[in-house]
Amino acid sequence: MNKEDINSIKELLSSPKQIVIIPHKNPDGDAIGSTLGLLHYLKQYNHNALIIAPNDYPDFLKWMPGESSILKYDHQKEASDALLISAEIIFTLDFNSLGRIGSMQDAVTASKGLKIMIDHHQQPDDYATYTYSDVAMSSTCEMVYNFIAMLDDTDTVNTDIATCLYAGIMTDTGSFRFSSTTSATHKIIGILIEKGANNAQIHNNIMDTNSYERLQLLGKALSNLKVIPEYKTAYITLTQEELNTFNFKKGDTEGFVNYGLSLKGIIFAAIFIESHQDDIIKISLRSKGDFSVNELSRSHFEGGGHTNAAGGKSDLNMRDTIDKFISILPQYKKDLKA
Ligand code: 5GP
Ligand code: MN
Repeated sequence: MNKEDINSIKELLSSPKQIVIIPHKNPDGDAIGSTLGLLHYLKQYNHNALIIAPNDYPDFLKWMPGESSILKYDHQKEASDALLISAEIIFTLDFNSLGRIGSMQDAVTASKGLKIMIDHHQQPDDYATYTYSDVAMSSTCEMVYNFIAMLDDTDTVNTDIATCLYAGIMTDTGSFRFSSTTSATHKIIGILIEKGANNAQIHNNIMDTNSYERLQLLGKALSNLKVIPEYKTAYITLTQEELNTFNFKKGDTEGFVNYGLSLKGIIFAAIFIESHQDDIIKISLRSKGDFSVNELSRSHFEGGGHTNAAGGKSDLNMRDTIDKFISILPQYKKDLKA
């Protein structure tokens, strides 16, 4: 985003507008934190702004300031379509392609609203009038902070903005440990704490609100963990039946994939989660170092993401999906066996 773009956006936002902000489907902490952070910023200028999420998100995100105002497209389609049609500006946050918002895609494409993308995923599509894309960024929340800074407006960062942005940076960096975490990330985190983000409380709200059943499900996942030492790979499976046994709720499997990566010597981890509702196996992939799970997911599992964290899906059953997964490993022996 160059100086000219910033000036145009400043001009655009200098009078109250009808604005819709959209995160990706199955929003995570960064998606909800960044959209809410931006919402609290825009509200200070009396814009008529709101967030429409494609669908619901986990309970551990439902404490963020302003969260209860978020519309869910799959349950409030008519109202959402009307808002999208009349929107003058549509911000799309934390995704790189309109395919990532599922059934909302048609309404967003049809809307004449000017589109502004803020995102850190690889290979962004070119649908927005203004694109702020940076794959080196830890999180979209860090980028929303930078966006406010580019508009010379960090004085407006209040406790609500700081809280939401802190939450998203924290979740997308695995509590500041992934290699995307830079000194700039930590400087921004420092500012957010100064502006009122209660770091201990935010970590507690997100990490320490497990249900007993979720921990039992984690136990099941860990007992299903398989290791393929010759490819430095580990993977977990969870069938729909296993999920049902532990009364699975959205978000319960968040972070499970990382346990595979915590094994000494493992650089590639996957989790395969069966969904009867969507009739797919949902896949999460993680890696360490240069091995790109974004590339592997794009090539084999209709997905994408970042170098070290990506997602995808499989239309095969669990057994065939695992067979496929194991059969493609030799293609990556250069990265995985080294
Ligand atoms: P997760 O495994 O936590 O669901 O997602 C890891 C990363 O990959 C996130 O940045 C997420 O946005 C992205 N991602 C997850 N699922 C998909 C998918 O189906 N397609 C694409 N393109 N990206 C995905
Ligand atoms: Mn993100």
